[in-house]
Amino acid sequence: MEKIYDLIIIGSGPAGMTAAVYGSRAGLDTLLIEFDAPGGKLVKTEEIQNWPGIVETGGTELAYDMYKHALSYGATFAAAEIVELKTDENTQIHTLVDKAGKEFQTKTVILATGTQERTFDLPNVAKLDGRGISYCAICDGGFYRNKDIAVFGGGNSALEEALYLTQFASKVYLVHRRDEFRADQIAIDKVKANDKIELVLDSVLEEILEADNKVAAIRVKNTKDDSERTINVEGIFVYIGSTPRSEMVKDRANLTPQGSIIVNAKMETGIPGIYAAGDVCDKNLRQVVTATNDGAIAAQEAFHYIDNLK
Ligand code: NAP
Repeated sequence: MEKIYDLIIIGSGPAGMTAAVYGSRAGLDTLLIEFDAPGGKLVKTEEIQNWPGIVETGGTELAYDMYKHALSYGATFAAAEIVELKTDENTQIHTLVDKAGKEFQTKTVILATGTQERTFDLPNVAKLDGRGISYCAICDGGFYRNKDIAVFGGGNSALEEALYLTQFASKVYLVHRRDEFRADQIAIDKVKANDKIELVLDSVLEEILEADNKVAAIRVKNTKDDSERTINVEGIFVYIGSTPRSEMVKDRANLTPQGSIIVNAKMETGIPGIYAAGDVCDKNLRQVVTATNDGAIAAQEAFHYIDNLK
């Protein structure tokens, strides 16, 4: 018979890694599954300044420390991309199926799957991915030393990454579709004070112009007066939000219209034995600290659920 885990956590961002610590410390046979590098969005974040107890640390460092911690009490790790989650109605055992068809069985599941970056619906976006279009300033910023680039978005990610990119780029155009930002005031103040950043507000991307199959310029339209402007840039960093990875439970859990999983205070999804934690959940504050909070609660509730099965 196939091994049946007590707890399988899908996603190894801060929520998933905290759940692994709490699950394994509670004695649950715990598996942490991830299709990408452990750490989730943390590994794409240059600096973390709001993790209590550490005034400032690197995202990659914090991710690595969390990963070591996650596996230190007996939880195991598997690299796999889970695409299906089904439940045997008689036994209440959940089966997770990965892209290659491999199955994992478990009594409880924590969905810590996070979000997928949104992008522009323009014809050459896929083709120029990695040829001037990037979703990760930490990964690709160094390629744009002394070059002009554009950052899109008006949230914390766009503003923080625009600031980060000023250490490489000669000029950063920050293009936002409104004239107000939704980022924290501290980031807005820093952006406005930075000479290398030019704000291009009330502007939407109309076209990405290319030369030699690489990004060469952007054409943006002002939404207030319909004027157009072409700006020569060699790189485009896209931070226009993201979509929750909730596909696996879309027919069984309660989702917001945007696809976030609606959980209660116990991180229950409404499907017995299945919990959600971190950015995939419907919440107002998406932070490392709130993700870890969710992960701890979800694992503790999974423990109680299994205890009640006995
Ligand atoms: P976000 O807060 O959802 O912001 C997305 C931005 O993209 C918004 O300004 C939005 O414009 C714009 N946008 C959305 N769709 C667009 C489109 N089709 N075309 C052009 N612009 C579009 O996303 P995020 O910045 O990635 O942040 C995600 C979450 O993580 C947030 O809760 C954020 O606070 C958190 N976060 C926190 C930190 C931190 O605390 N240091 C760092 C990074 C992220 P509108 O404003 O007009 O809607």
